[in-house]
Amino acid sequence: MLQQYEKKKPLLQIKHLKKHFPISNPLGKTVNHIKAVNDVTFDLYEKETLGLVGESGCGKSTTGRTILRLTEPTSGEVFYKGRNILRLKEKEFLPMRKEMQMVFQDPHSSLNPKKRIGYSIEEPMKIQGIGTKMERLEKAMELLHKVGLRKDQYYRYPHEFSGGQRQRIGLARALAVNPQVIICDEPVSALDVSIQSQVINLLQELQEEFGQSYLFIAHDLSVVRHISDRIGVMYLGSIVELAPTDELFKNPMHPYTQALLSAIPIANPQRKKERVVLRGDVPSPANLPSGCVFHTRCPHAMARCKSEVPTLRQGASGHRVACHLYDE
Ligand code: SF4
Repeated sequence: MLQQYEKKKPLLQIKHLKKHFPISNPLGKTVNHIKAVNDVTFDLYEKETLGLVGESGCGKSTTGRTILRLTEPTSGEVFYKGRNILRLKEKEFLPMRKEMQMVFQDPHSSLNPKKRIGYSIEEPMKIQGIGTKMERLEKAMELLHKVGLRKDQYYRYPHEFSGGQRQRIGLARALAVNPQVIICDEPVSALDVSIQSQVINLLQELQEEFGQSYLFIAHDLSVVRHISDRIGVMYLGSIVELAPTDELFKNPMHPYTQALLSAIPIANPQRKKERVVLRGDVPSPANLPSGCVFHTRCPHAMARCKSEVPTLRQGASGHRVACHLYDE
């Protein structure tokens, strides 16, 4: 699968992205930083779905928001079709915005409760100056149909829909401007399990039809597995492992990924698997451990892990891992 991507140019390239939030004392002086995203590098290819997983607070949502410049990065580069979008002025970036959209965990908060949902779907087209009033209305109705809702629901308000339906509306809104990249930030986390699979199936059907790429952010590895071509595992602001989905599940290399996989329940009670229980809590991103940030919880930590930061190295079959256990 990876070889197939490597022949293509990446659509989106994220290089050494960092987002540090300042912590100020009562006098307004910066005394520390929360290192939410700390040197993240990966590529996203055309029509690919890349899953980004990790515990809450690991920086995956901030990564998504920073790529779209919903929050400005501290440093790093984001190339879209070869152009560094972080260097563009807001005016230059506006036409590109329509090519990169976001679907949020809670679509209720991204839909204006006082406006009919048709208005919310049409709004991005209006901002980008796409179509006439009638064309926008027709497109909004067509999108409602595509995401499995009725055209006459155009005139309803957000509170008249269930969580799953609101997520469908969020998708219709994102698709309104024909994006090439959609960042899905925990799009199914707030939904019931049966509704989760409906939304995931819908995302896949829409990708078949429109050919967009997804960065799919979630904390649940089993959800990400169903939709992703590749998966990146994040811990405390960094990607510690990145691999094609099947390869990651067959051969998890990083001790953190091994622990995450061991926590996924198996449906067959006859099959037992050993659970890797991590010691201690996740350290604060305001006070990252030295060396490998996972060393305070890693069952295989060695002396050098406390002082040397492991780099994300390229291995066989496109499998990358940041861990001294695999250093030559
Ligand atoms: Fe564990 Fe060391 Fe590998 Fe970090 S570098 S995951 S502490 S073995």
